[in-house]
Amino acid sequence: MRVLGIETSCDETGVALYDTERGLAADALYSQVAMHAEYGGVVPELASRDHTRRLLPLIQQVLDEAGVARGELDAIAYTAGPGLVGALMVGASTAHGMARALDIPVLGVHHMEGHLLAPMLENAPPGFPFVALLVSGGHTQLVEVHGLGRYTLLGESVDDAAGEAFDKAAKMLGLDYPGGPHVARLAEAGDPGRFRFPRPMTDRPGLDFSFSGLKTHTLTTLRQLEAEGALDGAAQADVARAFEDAVVDTLVIKCRRALDQTGLKRLVVAGGVSANIRLREGLAHECAKRHARAYYPRGRFCTDNGAMIAYVGARRLQAGEHDETGIMKAVPRWPMETLSVP
Ligand code: ATP
Ligand code: MG
Ligand code: FE
Repeated sequence: MRVLGIETSCDETGVALYDTERGLAADALYSQVAMHAEYGGVVPELASRDHTRRLLPLIQQVLDEAGVARGELDAIAYTAGPGLVGALMVGASTAHGMARALDIPVLGVHHMEGHLLAPMLENAPPGFPFVALLVSGGHTQLVEVHGLGRYTLLGESVDDAAGEAFDKAAKMLGLDYPGGPHVARLAEAGDPGRFRFPRPMTDRPGLDFSFSGLKTHTLTTLRQLEAEGALDGAAQADVARAFEDAVVDTLVIKCRRALDQTGLKRLVVAGGVSANIRLREGLAHECAKRHARAYYPRGRFCTDNGAMIAYVGARRLQAGEHDETGIMKAVPRWPMETLSVP
């Protein structure tokens, strides 16, 4: 079964072709990051318009690369949510229009289920069950995954997502959007011993997170340094390091708890923040101690992409799921626990 996957939930236009017999045949991405950087964050209206410009050429590019004609597609999957509603509508309407023209099934899939199962596209994919840490721009969640569509939420952020916290800290440090990679780079030069930021919600049991306090802590520290006339490049790097260490440590502590609580030995880490090197090092260390293993998507599938949507769509379409004719879905908020088992 050849499934075209379309991702337009935020600021990345992603398209891929997944073949259930041969695996991933082609994938392409157009990132709007440079366009939004000017505004310090994603501007929803600009995002929708740019998806409209990029999507059809990107679909053609993927079909050409895969050597597949439009008429040879068996189904289409698109991101139906969660995300920016205008951006989602571009993918949803394109998918439904194409599917109607080609007379093939179409299915709206959950963006976070895509992130969650992105490691399944790798060579030695994890088997079920596993614990998943989803750390992206909009989500920080620990999920127990029993199988496709069988998810138990173990914990989540009560305020900002980890990626969002990175982006806000970056802004305070005068770094570009999206801030995660920039903060990480600056932190490399920082002294880990100069400042110690709190590890929120680790002093009590439970698997929820809170990152908004770290944002305030970062701002207060920067203001104080400025008042002392001590806010030079070195101090900024030290603050970046203290911030990154606090976020990473918090995530590692909660992952350790989730593995202990469930007794599972497999940890999947996905979403944009999973690209963070210090997080990977910390989790590798924890996993080694308890003979567990961590699984990641390849670098370009850590952030938004069409491949993860094509993959999840293929698994569900194969099981017979599809949208009703003419009923396209664009759902800004969509809890993952409400997903069905195909
Ligand atoms: P969601 O999937 O929740 O809807 P999103 O799609 O915007 O949100 P992703 O594209 O998966 O999120 O990830 C983007 C986020 O990852 C940004 O917040 C970015 O700062 C962060 N990020 C990327 N690389 C790194 C890194 N090396 N260290 C820390 N954070 C990073
Ligand atoms: Mg993104
Ligand atoms: Fe995402």
